[in-house]
Amino acid sequence: MTASNPSTSQTDPTGGGGPFSKIEHIGIAVHHLEEAISRYEQTLGCRCYKREVVESEGVETAFFRIGESKIELLAANRTDSPIARFLEKHGEGVHHLAFGVEDIRREMERCRSLGYTLLNELPKPGADNKLVVFLHPKEHHGVLIELCQDR
Ligand code: ZN
Repeated sequence: MTASNPSTSQTDPTGGGGPFSKIEHIGIAVHHLEEAISRYEQTLGCRCYKREVVESEGVETAFFRIGESKIELLAANRTDSPIARFLEKHGEGVHHLAFGVEDIRREMERCRSLGYTLLNELPKPGADNKLVVFLHPKEHHGVLIELCQDR
């Protein structure tokens, strides 16, 4: 990447903050969870601190902490789960980007008023003690977005 030309760069004096508190985690779809955990433990230099099966989603997850954010590894635990379909279609890789929110229902309303497609009509229980909603990737340049609120 080339350095930006100072004469054309623009900075919003408000700092650009919005309703999302942080990038809560990045979800990565993997074929084999054990193998992926070993690799990420090695690369990140820390241990996976939590593993959890979300039966309703057909997924087994493993979490790593990186400062305020996390990495969530996702593997399918049955062949008809959304993660299994994702892996079939795209192979391994970044699956979703999750933003932390204070009030998920308010953010869902805001997203509806913007005309976005919500993949679930009500907040649903997700991994790591969260309420979550997903926004369709078609409206976000190919990225599946998750909004999550602490339960
Ligand atoms: Zn997630």
